[in-house]
Order: sequence, then structure tokens, then C-alpha cells
Amino acid sequence: MQRILEEAKKISEEITGWRRHLHEIPELGLETPKTAAYIVQELKKMGAEDIREHIGGWGVSALVKGEKPGKTLGIRADCDALPIKEETGLPFASKNGLMHACGHDAHAAMALSAAKLLLASKAELAGTVKFIFQPAEENVQGAKAMIDDGVMENPHVDALIGLHTGCLWKEIGPGEIGVRFGSMMAAVDRFVVTFKGKGGHGATPHLAVDPVTMTATAVLELQTILSRELSPLDSAVLTIGRIEGGRAFNIIAENCVIEGTVRTLNPTTRAFVEERIRTVASRVAEGMRGDAEVAYEAGPPALINNADFTRKFQAFAAGLAGAEKVKEIGEPTMGGEDVAYFLEMVPGTFFVHGGCNPEKGQVYPHHNPKFDLDEETFPLGAALFAGFALNWQN
Ligand SMILES: [Zn+2]
Ligand SMILES: [Zn+2]
Repeated sequence: MQRILEEAKKISEEITGWRRHLHEIPELGLETPKTAAYIVQELKKMGAEDIREHIGGWGVSALVKGEKPGKTLGIRADCDALPIKEETGLPFASKNGLMHACGHDAHAAMALSAAKLLLASKAELAGTVKFIFQPAEENVQGAKAMIDDGVMENPHVDALIGLHTGCLWKEIGPGEIGVRFGSMMAAVDRFVVTFKGKGGHGATPHLAVDPVTMTATAVLELQTILSRELSPLDSAVLTIGRIEGGRAFNIIAENCVIEGTVRTLNPTTRAFVEERIRTVASRVAEGMRGDAEVAYEAGPPALINNADFTRKFQAFAAGLAGAEKVKEIGEPTMGGEDVAYFLEMVPGTFFVHGGCNPEKGQVYPHHNPKFDLDEETFPLGAALFAGFALNWQN
């Protein structure tokens, strides 16, 4: 396995080149035409097979077909950027007001490198590897759009891996690999509750029905779903980020609206919290002579790594990089990742690639205008993708 890491190091200049080019042309959300065109151009140049464009918008897929029979492994790389004005001062910094401030430029570059490495190893490769270049991770729309457009079929993807580089988990230093068994990131849901009353004069509340009082009560009541109804050992977040209602000091409003997010780590808790939000909001409103209309929008599910698959990846990564470089992540985060849609369908694992080096001044968090990565860590990411593809069916 050391060989694939050596091969990856030999193409490090090319990996850096891909990353820097993508870094200069950041694009947002589902609208990533230049990014897609560049990825397609580079895949064609290296001779990847069955390159498909416009999957769920600007998603791209490509195959590397091994000469031995076997299953299909998906390698997913997200490649969208953020609405942040870059302040790194790097020679290849973005000038269009957007920025790759989460490292997705590096994800795409590492996946491209893995494709190149595997194309050179087709004789040893069993089965097929399907590379999935996904837009719109940041707004968690891209994975679902690509899946709905059939990216997991023809050929059917049997298992999938993905990575996140950077410093999302502080304990994973540069050149280290983080693995996590079970829940790693949260389901990301959004809800809107409209409390409906009856408008009237502020001086005659008894002739009106006040939705602001309902809302104030519900904001506090909803928190008790977590503090009084869930096990203290079961993590969940309920944040109300917006309240809107009323127009003047002496008018009782018709409606008052709250909007919030729910984060949970397992499907049972997720369904429970949704049901309780509906009930609590409605009962609070009814108790105060009003009504509540609840809209609950399910985003990506919790990211849950398959245990057997993760064990296999952990053993492989230790063989490639050394056991001391592979660390188990202690705690999940309540942030979300739409790779979860893929991992809900097939077994797989999402791992962390330590990509920020404080000794090189890379001390800024993800989504910061000064966020940067250590390009010397990229060959490791490429080798992890390619090497695992060569090994996972053994
Ligand atoms: Zn991000
Ligand atoms: Zn990210």
C-alpha cells in the first residue's frame, strides 16, 4: 500500500495545480458550470471512462473500470464554495467575491488525483470506481439532486466513501486521519410555525387573540421537548433563529412566525422531535384561543458511518499512513453533511483528512476569509481514496 502513497506524491504538483485552479474559480450552490467544465476537461485528459455531465444540475460522474471483476465503489467529492470575500493574500486567491473557504477545492483535486492513480492501476483494480463530483454541499441540496437524477445507478454503486479535509475536528492534525463509528454529523431540519390569532386594538386584548403571546410561550415550551422529554444522553438541538410578528405598538397582530432548525443524531429522535414540535405548538396556540400551522422540512439525515465498513477503512488507513496517524473521533458535531444521503442508501464511511497546519499559519476555521490548507497533505487524501478502492473487496 505504500506504493500508492509514493505514486500520489509523484503527482503532487498536479494535485496542487488542480486545487489552485479550482480555488480561483469558486462557484456557489447548484450553479457550478465552470467547476464542472474544468473537472470534465481534466477527466477527459487523463482518460477516465463514461464521463457524465449535468447530473442533477452541474454534477459530474466518471468511471475507472478495473480489469478484474468486482463491485462498484463510489468516491464522492463535493466542489462548491461560499459567499465569502477571500482575505488569504494567496497568489491564486479568488477575485470574484466568492471563496473556497471549506476546502471543497481540495476534495475535488484529491478525487481527480485518485482517478489518475487508479487509471494507472487498472490491471490490479477489481470492479469499478465511480467518481461523483457534487455541487451544493453547503446548502445541502447537491447530493439529493444527483441521487434523484440517477447517479447511484448504471452502474449501481455498492458502497461509498468521502472525506472532509481541514480542521473541523481539532484533534485531527495535518497528515492525520479521523474515523468515526456510527453517528458523525447531525440531520439538518428546518421548521416554520405560524401562530394565528385575531388582530385588534392594543387596548382591548379581550376582543382580539394575541399571536405574540402564543409565540413567546411556545418558544420556551419547545425547549422543554429537549430538556424534559429526551434522554439527557441523547443529543439534539432546537434553535429558533427568527421571530417575526406585529407592526405597531398599539396593534395586536394577526400572525406571528417563528423559524428554526432541529439537529439530531438518529432517525428515532428526529421523528420524535418533529412530532412533538407539531403537538406543542398546536396545543400552546389552542390553549390561548389561536391556531398554529407547522411546516417541517426534512434536510439531510444524520451522517451514520457503517461500522464494518469503517473498521475496514480504519485498518487500511493504518496500513497506508501508520496506525499512529489514524485517530478515532470522540464526538460527532451537530453540523450537517449531505453525503449522509448517499450513506443512507449504501454502506460506507466518511472520514476526516487533517489538512490545516498551524505551523504554516493555517489557524483559521472553516468559512473564515483567511481559511487555508496545507497542500503537502493532499497526496495522502488521494492515496486514501485510490488505495482503498484497490483494497476494499479483499
Ligand atoms: Zn463548509
Ligand atoms: Zn465543507
